[in-house]
Amino acid sequence: MDLYSRQISKLIEELSGLPGIGSKSAQRLAFHILNMPLERVEGLSGAIIEAKKNVRYCSQCFTLTDSELCPICSNSKRDKKTIMVLENTRDLAAYEKTGKYEGVYHVLHGAISPMLGIGPNDIKLKELMQRLQKDVNEVIIATNSSLEGETTAMYISKLIKPTGIKVSRIASGVPVGGDLEYIDEVTLLRALEGRIEI
Ligand code: ZN
Repeated sequence: MDLYSRQISKLIEELSGLPGIGSKSAQRLAFHILNMPLERVEGLSGAIIEAKKNVRYCSQCFTLTDSELCPICSNSKRDKKTIMVLENTRDLAAYEKTGKYEGVYHVLHGAISPMLGIGPNDIKLKELMQRLQKDVNEVIIATNSSLEGETTAMYISKLIKPTGIKVSRIASGVPVGGDLEYIDEVTLLRALEGRIEI
């Protein structure tokens, strides 16, 4: 049964394909958009298209950015010898929001998950090992405390150990299975400061 005309249904369908958007939210968003002035809708759709066209991986840390090097990697004040390894750009943003971390990052874009068939070659791990050819003092592994995050942390630490570079893991206290982006800044800082060498 079609409740709405074809184009409205299409809009709702597209929106409900987004993460966290159920059919009710999709309907609410669709009608909100339809009530917006045309210029604002054009601004929104333009921002989506421009971001999609121009956003790529930073050539150093692989976070999402719209230039060759992200603002963090191109900042000469950041300590390039300390690399924090994260699962995604949202986690990076969570740490960056604390304003206290002075090193740089490496974004894996995922975690090793034998259950989902995601292996070491499916994340940006080779790229991390390449970065370690340069002068690096410490690698801080800040993957999530989920099973996948822990598996990834163990795997990475085993890979790095022979290089002699210090490897540490952020302290627990980050809730198990918790996405880093949902954890408050104080907890994140405590986890960073309480990191232990592994
Ligand atoms: Zn970068």
